[in-house]
Amino acid sequence: MTTPTRHGKTAVVLLSGGLDSATVLAMAREQGYVCHCLSMDYGQRHRAELDAAARVAEALGAAHHRVVKIDLAGFGGSALTDDSIAVPTDGIAPGIPVTYVPARNTILLSFALANAEVAGANDIFFGANAVDYSGYPDCRPDYVKAYEAMANLATRAAIEGQRLTVHTPIIALSKADIIRTGIALGVDYALTVSCYQATTDGLACGQCDACRLRCAGFEQAAVADPTRYKKLNKNK
Ligand code: ZN
Repeated sequence: MTTPTRHGKTAVVLLSGGLDSATVLAMAREQGYVCHCLSMDYGQRHRAELDAAARVAEALGAAHHRVVKIDLAGFGGSALTDDSIAVPTDGIAPGIPVTYVPARNTILLSFALANAEVAGANDIFFGANAVDYSGYPDCRPDYVKAYEAMANLATRAAIEGQRLTVHTPIIALSKADIIRTGIALGVDYALTVSCYQATTDGLACGQCDACRLRCAGFEQAAVADPTRYKKLNKNK
């Protein structure tokens, strides 16, 4: 059993169940961190990604996996949290899409920050990506830097000298490079679910932005796509 201390290499890893955060967990483990994975049941459309997160945490040797329930669907305002807003399936359009969840990453990081302070972790790993992403403002390097600066003003741990670092090791990687990195670290992407509207069994639609980015990433990395799609024809 792992007993985290303020002096150990304990990290909190935000784990969605998707491809990016699975890779980030593998990278944190490679760097020797004892990983406390945190997944948020925030009212997203499907639970398949939370089931995936549990599989990924176990497969990649997380010390803990915790699922915290919050209710962003109480506000809605996103195709991921409001059933009356359709997930776009016509291709990736310019601008910030309706799958943006208002302030989601700030909220998720704040839970990770609280978890880190309690666990004695000085490090948070977060799978933000600013290359093959969907135009979300809270995935950009400037945002992450600002969050880290805020976090170091916000906690007792930081004021007492335990400064926090927010690691975003895939922020500048293409999806193909993320996949190559994960494969080299033994990530089984068949365990992950990226689709914005996966079935309860974790079958992907093949048409949403997340599916398109993921599929293109496997093609560019020349890695067989292990995604289970709900239709045989995943093109268009
Ligand atoms: Zn999809």
